[in-house]
Amino acid sequence: MQLFDWIAEILRSDAGRSGPETGSTRFVPPPPDVDPLTGRDRFGWGFDDTEFRVTDDGTVKLTGDRYDISGVEMPKLLPWLQDVMGISVDPSDPATPTQDPEIPPPRPAPELMSSLESVLDPDRMTQDDAARLDHGHGQTQQEIYQINHGDGFERVPDLVAYPETAEEVERIVALADQHDAVLIPFGGGTNVTEALRCDPDEDRFIVSVDMRLMNRIEWIDPVNRTAKIQAGAIGRHIEAQLAEYGFTMGHEPDSIEFSTIGGWVATHASGMKKNRYGNIEDIVLDVDVVTPSGRLEKRGLHPRVSTGFDPTSCLFGSEGTLGIITAVTVKLFPEPAVRRYGSVIFPSLQNGVDFLYDLAQTRHVPASVRLMDNTQFHFGQALKPEKTGLDALKSRLETVYVTRLKGYDPDTLVTATLLFEGDEQEVDLQEETVYELANEHGGMRAGSENGRRGYDLTFAIAYIRDLVFRHRLLAESFETAVPWGQAHELIERVKERTHREHEAHDLPGRPFITGRITQVYETGVCIYFYMAMYHEGVDRPDEVYKEVEHGIREEILDAGGSLSHHHGVGKLRADFMDDIASAPTLAAKNELKDAIDPNGVFDTGNQGLGTSR
Ligand SMILES: Cc1cc2nc3c(=O)[nH]c(=O)nc-3n(C[C@H](O)[C@H](O)[C@H](O)COP(=O)(O)OP(=O)(O)OC[C@H]3O[C@@H](n4cnc5c(N)ncnc54)[C@H](O)[C@@H]3O)c2cc1C
Repeated sequence: MQLFDWIAEILRSDAGRSGPETGSTRFVPPPPDVDPLTGRDRFGWGFDDTEFRVTDDGTVKLTGDRYDISGVEMPKLLPWLQDVMGISVDPSDPATPTQDPEIPPPRPAPELMSSLESVLDPDRMTQDDAARLDHGHGQTQQEIYQINHGDGFERVPDLVAYPETAEEVERIVALADQHDAVLIPFGGGTNVTEALRCDPDEDRFIVSVDMRLMNRIEWIDPVNRTAKIQAGAIGRHIEAQLAEYGFTMGHEPDSIEFSTIGGWVATHASGMKKNRYGNIEDIVLDVDVVTPSGRLEKRGLHPRVSTGFDPTSCLFGSEGTLGIITAVTVKLFPEPAVRRYGSVIFPSLQNGVDFLYDLAQTRHVPASVRLMDNTQFHFGQALKPEKTGLDALKSRLETVYVTRLKGYDPDTLVTATLLFEGDEQEVDLQEETVYELANEHGGMRAGSENGRRGYDLTFAIAYIRDLVFRHRLLAESFETAVPWGQAHELIERVKERTHREHEAHDLPGRPFITGRITQVYETGVCIYFYMAMYHEGVDRPDEVYKEVEHGIREEILDAGGSLSHHHGVGKLRADFMDDIASAPTLAAKNELKDAIDPNGVFDTGNQGLGTSR
């Protein structure tokens, strides 16, 4: 009774003004009051008002006021990093950025251009150099290095198009097919796999189809707990709008501020709260996609079906190679009544991993649990401001308590951050389970404030890459999934291989390599690494970095890890495809692509698909 009263209230409210569909429990929320195309840093990561800056005395500060650590002076970060890496960085001597990276001119395609003009308003197509450059890359270290310190790219899209409706997308796809052009769907541009980079040998006209103007929630069905969302909607906008109606999708990748729901499907993404809400494939019920062969569709929206081949399933991880996703229908969850944070310290990584293993076998895993290795623990400490007065005393006492009285070794201890979501009873039970198990594995509670800080820090840490770039360091993350039995060994092997590669490439100082377990499953974990290397005096350091990372990926595969857990393959890891699947499997994938896209409109080179054409 209560539920239906509440729905009636929503339908009477502003939200329902556009009217529910007849006989349905859906309502149409108003368009989001946002400008999806502005605010993003074109040459690096994040919002354009936020960046880490370093003063001449080496103090680091995050500009703007978006994050907890914005404006905080961090004098310990640079000294700590130099110590770990055995290098000396002169903050007053940053690397000289490239002046205006070269941008190849657009290729001529007069007939296609004039046909496209009949589909899109002139202000929704551009051949502006900056826009074309911006759409020709994602966020890999090499792409960002090439723009800021290298020669730019040999090839970028010839045109950027901004459709507003699925019908416009259909017409663009049909025209590209007719005029032998290539289409690259663009979401938030946050991929870290070179998925958007253009093939320098591609002679055909390339159109980047930026989906961000298709950013509406088409409907919300509060009774059946579903919503249909246009593919270009950005994560943070989706969550803000759903929250107005008391719902969440529960998908929270670290890139949620900029990545889009279409991109999440196309890359097969995973969010921080997957333990409670699932990975993207668990949340998505249906996907609308336009391909050169037409729309791939199934009829009806059901909680589950057993009807043979499901076209939706092949879109997860399709990386823009099959068509353009125009909308995604998802499950909704009520906003949790209770949200609490927590943290635990363990004496060693092995203790922490054993704790996670036991926790993963229970039914009470918190929405997010992440285990940071010792280096990452100290990294978090280095991001704290210098304490003075009583705060300094308190901090010293805490250190004495943890290390002397409790006996944790600062050189081996690791930390887990926890986010609990649910109703009061569920969260109580999760907390009880977590802290009991932690205790059994030598863990000690380290407070909710540390947990909250650790969780939120994720978003601010993403900006550090661009800071270190300016001081001759290259840095990036990579990830893998591995069965429990091989997890600890894989971490050790990755660290050893990183050092070996560093030495083999004769790089200065020591490599920075740190790992954390970000997702747990009954059968294994996702491990996420950050790596950095100093490159003073090194020629083409971005290429060297890529070689180092390639070597590490070989080690990961050899140690039983996957090619990727959630970043995907793109072009960065395409040459490993033969290592992960049998020849008939790859042939079947290629044949499926050929059947859907016979003329190679979506031959973007990702996963090596369609490149034999
Ligand atoms: C700081 C940072 C943190 C990150 N954290 C996470 C994380 O926690 N979890 C995670 O899974 N990933 C993470 N990523 C990687 C990235 O955010 C994801 O891969 C994300 O899903 C990409 O979405 P996007 O909208 O930015 O897609 P884009 O980068 O624009 O595109 C990625 C690929 O998808 C295709 N594509 C995009 N939109 C469509 C569409 N509508 N139809 C068809 N194809 C499309 C593109 O052609 C391209 O091949 C992170 C990246 C960064 C830089």
